[in-house]
Amino acid sequence: MWTIWTGVSMEPKKLAKRLFGTNGVRGIAGTEMTPDLALKIGLALGTMRPGTVAVGRDTRTSGPALASALKAGLLAAGCDVVDAGVLPTPALQFIVRAHFDAGAVVTASHNPPEYNGIKVIEPDGTEMADEESVILERHIFEGSARMAPWDRVGHEQSAPTLFEEYVNAIVRSFPPDIGEGLVVAADPGCGAAYLSTPEILSRMGCRVFSLNSQMDGTFPGRLPEPSPEGLQPLSDLVCTTGARFGVAHDGDADRAVFVDEKGNFIEENREFGLIADLVCRERKGVIVTPVSTSRLIEVIAQRHGCRVVYTPVGSIYVARTMISLGSQGIPVIFGGEGNGGLIFPNHQFCRDGGMTTATMVALLAQIDKPLSVLVDTLPRFTMIKEKIREKDSKGLISRLRTRFSGEHLDLTDGVRINRDDAWALVRPSGTEPLVRVMVESVSDGKAREFFEEIMAVIRD
Ligand code: MG
Repeated sequence: MWTIWTGVSMEPKKLAKRLFGTNGVRGIAGTEMTPDLALKIGLALGTMRPGTVAVGRDTRTSGPALASALKAGLLAAGCDVVDAGVLPTPALQFIVRAHFDAGAVVTASHNPPEYNGIKVIEPDGTEMADEESVILERHIFEGSARMAPWDRVGHEQSAPTLFEEYVNAIVRSFPPDIGEGLVVAADPGCGAAYLSTPEILSRMGCRVFSLNSQMDGTFPGRLPEPSPEGLQPLSDLVCTTGARFGVAHDGDADRAVFVDEKGNFIEENREFGLIADLVCRERKGVIVTPVSTSRLIEVIAQRHGCRVVYTPVGSIYVARTMISLGSQGIPVIFGGEGNGGLIFPNHQFCRDGGMTTATMVALLAQIDKPLSVLVDTLPRFTMIKEKIREKDSKGLISRLRTRFSGEHLDLTDGVRINRDDAWALVRPSGTEPLVRVMVESVSDGKAREFFEEIMAVIRD
C-alpha cells in the first residue's frame, strides 16, 4: 500500500498554439514541414531575438534544405548565424547558453524519417515557452517579421566542432576515468548522437561497442524512436560483448533508453527511478516531473526525504518549473519524463541523452551490481496506457471531474484521479481528436479495475 498522495502540482500555463506542439514545430518534410515555413520561422525568430543565433540539425535527409531556409530567414532578419552542423539537441542547447542569443535545431526528434521540424532555443538553453511561441506564430501568420536593410543583413559562420564543448562539459562532470574497464554498447540509431555518445563513453574510460553509429538520415538500422522492438540488435551486441549495459537514443538524443546486461529493455519510468535513487542519495530537494510519470518516482523521493512537484505533460514545463523553483531558493535536484528524457540541473535545464548515459556509467561504477539486479529492486507497478478517439475531449474531462468529484483530483493537465493505491490520468491530445488514458497501480487487478471505471464514463 502506498502512503497518501504527497506530490504538489505546479501549473505553468499551457497555451493553444497553431504550429508549435509540445516540442517545437513538426510535420512531414516537403508537405507540412517545408523550406518556406522554415524561412518564415527564421525571419520571425530573427525579429524576436536579434543577435547571434546558433543553428544545428539532426541527421535527417531533409535537414540541409530546411536548415538552409531557416538560416536564410535569420540572416535576412539581420541576425548573425553560427552553423553548428549535425549535433544532439542538448548539445546545441548547451552551446547556446554558453555563447549565443538564441538557437534553433532542425529535428523531428523521435518521429519517423519522413518527418522533420524545428525546436527553438532561448538564450538560457531552454526550449521556447508557450507565451513566446505564440508571439513567434503571430509573426508568421501576420507577416509582421522584420527584414533587415541590405547593409544590416547577417553573416554566417560555420562551427562544426562546437559540440565538443558539450562533450567536455559532460565528461568533466565526473571523476576522470570513472568508467575504466566498463564495457558499454551504444546505439545512436544513425541519429545526432552518432559522434557524441561513443566519444563521451570512451573518454570516461569505457570500452565502447557501437552500432548504427554512422550519420544516415534514412535510418537504415531502426526507426528514430528507441522502442524495444527496434533494439534487438543492441541487446544482441550487449550479450555478445559482455557489456554492462546498452544505450540507445532518439533522433536528436535528448532522450536515452537502456538495456541491461542480459539484453532486457528497461522501461523508461524504471530508468528514471534508478537514476532518481542515485541523485537522491547524493542530494536532498525536489524532483520535477509531469503528471504522466509513474508514482515510482514519488516513492523513491520519499524514501530519501525528497519530494516531487508535478507539471503538465511536456519537457518545457518540467524545465521551466525547475528554473522557477530554483529561483525561489528551493533546491531542485532532478527532473524528467517517463520516456527517457532526464534533466540534470547541475548540467543544464533540458533533457540530455548524453548526460543520462554518462550518469548510468557513474551509477554502475559506484554500485558493483548488475543493472538487472538494481532494476529488480525497484518497487513494481502496473501501468495501462490507451489512446481513445474522442471529439469532445473537454466535455469528457468535465464528466470525469463530476463523476470522481469526491476523490483527490489534480487538474494540472486533463484530470488525474489520485487514490492511495492507484492513479488515473485522462488528458486531451494537443494535436488530434483523441484522449490519452493512463492508469497505474501496485497490482494488475487494481489497475484493470480502475481502467474499466474510467472507460465506463468514456463509453457513456
Ligand atoms: Mg528527442
